Amino acid sequence: MFGETQEMIREAAARFAREKLLPNAARLDRGEGGEEYSENLRELARLGFNGLAVREEYGGAQAGAVAYALALFEIGKACASTAVAVSVTNMAAEVLQAVGSGGQCKKYLPPLLRGEWPAASFCLTESGAGSDPAAMRARAEENKNGFIINGVKQWISSGKIAGFYLVWAVTDAQAPRGRGISCFIADAGSEGLTVGPDADKMGQRGSPTNEIVFDNVCIPRENLLGKLNDGYRIAMRELFGGRIGVAAMACGIASAALDSAQEYMCAREQHGKKLREHQGLRWMLAERRAETEAAFWLTIRAAQLKDAGRNFVKEAAMAKWFAATAGERACRDALQLHGGYGYMRDLPLERHCRDIRIASIYEGTDEMQKNIIARELFRGEKENKGG
Ligand SMILES: Cc1cc2nc3c(=O)[nH]c(=O)nc-3n(C[C@H](O)[C@H](O)[C@H](O)COP(=O)(O)OP(=O)(O)OC[C@H]3O[C@@H](n4cnc5c(N)ncnc54)[C@H](O)[C@@H]3O)c2cc1C
Repeated sequence: MFGETQEMIREAAARFAREKLLPNAARLDRGEGGEEYSENLRELARLGFNGLAVREEYGGAQAGAVAYALALFEIGKACASTAVAVSVTNMAAEVLQAVGSGGQCKKYLPPLLRGEWPAASFCLTESGAGSDPAAMRARAEENKNGFIINGVKQWISSGKIAGFYLVWAVTDAQAPRGRGISCFIADAGSEGLTVGPDADKMGQRGSPTNEIVFDNVCIPRENLLGKLNDGYRIAMRELFGGRIGVAAMACGIASAALDSAQEYMCAREQHGKKLREHQGLRWMLAERRAETEAAFWLTIRAAQLKDAGRNFVKEAAMAKWFAATAGERACRDALQLHGGYGYMRDLPLERHCRDIRIASIYEGTDEMQKNIIARELFRGEKENKGG
């Protein structure tokens, strides 16, 4: 079904997830085990998981989007907080590979891919610019050495553990919407760059989410990524690929929840028979399994199109929306099948329910995915102006 390399990557991810990530997942959720978290991310990098689609010359695995989806699925099954960091770091690595100069790729990719830093961050969102990043207010003023960035980026995944940040800022305030934004690389520890405290959030609590403040941060000219004023297009293009990672992670979380439910249905007896013998419960599991399976293959389809160099925008949006919504239903019903035990923190079901919720929000909300799907469906149709 998958190629030899893809199967090998999936198996390696599954093994690492089982042996290293799963034992730490509940502790991380309680706010412990942060050092182990960063060390596991570095180890994943050393094993090739930070640059799954990056060329070998930069230390990447050069294995493509299907391998990336399979890895994120296995990692998501064990620890969603780790999956999000791996997903965003791969996105940052792919932006560098796609639009970075030879010098930028040589400087940032090899250390990232050999685990010198646990992660990299993608700084697009601001308090007033979420679904509409073109409304961003961060500014980059050009001077003779490069650019000075001022602005505040909100809810940045891996903010406090990133080795560098890809940051978007307005470089031409007079340009039409989205046409005056550029992308830059900012090193962690740059003067004027500060990282806020961890956001106190519902799920994926092991993954630090931070505000990043840019207060007169000097960015050398050679750290402009891609062309001046082309940043919005760069961000949108990369988010299309990132959605495959979020969808795969959501399928992983849902599968873990359903695996627990299936096992529990074989062990628990009520009314003189196993839960698996109650038809209503069998149907509940059957429906959720079918939906999760469909979400998985939709995700793989988007990844295959990406690997083939074909347009995958609609399929990636469909996969993300469907995996997030079907995954949430799967986690809810998996908890329901455990009854009161599912509600207790001794079992991972309530964590799965909290962890999956964000899949409908970050890297484009469900509503934005549906906007994208509809836009792609009607592409080429003339707008009806009415009569
Ligand atoms: C835990 C977490 C981690 C994150 N990590 C990162 C990160 O690493 N980097 C980063 O840059 N950002 C990150 N984000 C930000 C995330 O991408 C945004 O939260 C998301 O894009 C939505 O933006 P918003 O929260 O401002 O919601 P809004 O854009 O304010 O949306 C509010 C509601 O309105 C709906 N809506 C908005 N516009 C439309 C429309 N045109 N049509 C229909 N409905 C619409 C939305 O779907 C939503 O339901 C993260 C967020 C969280 C919570």
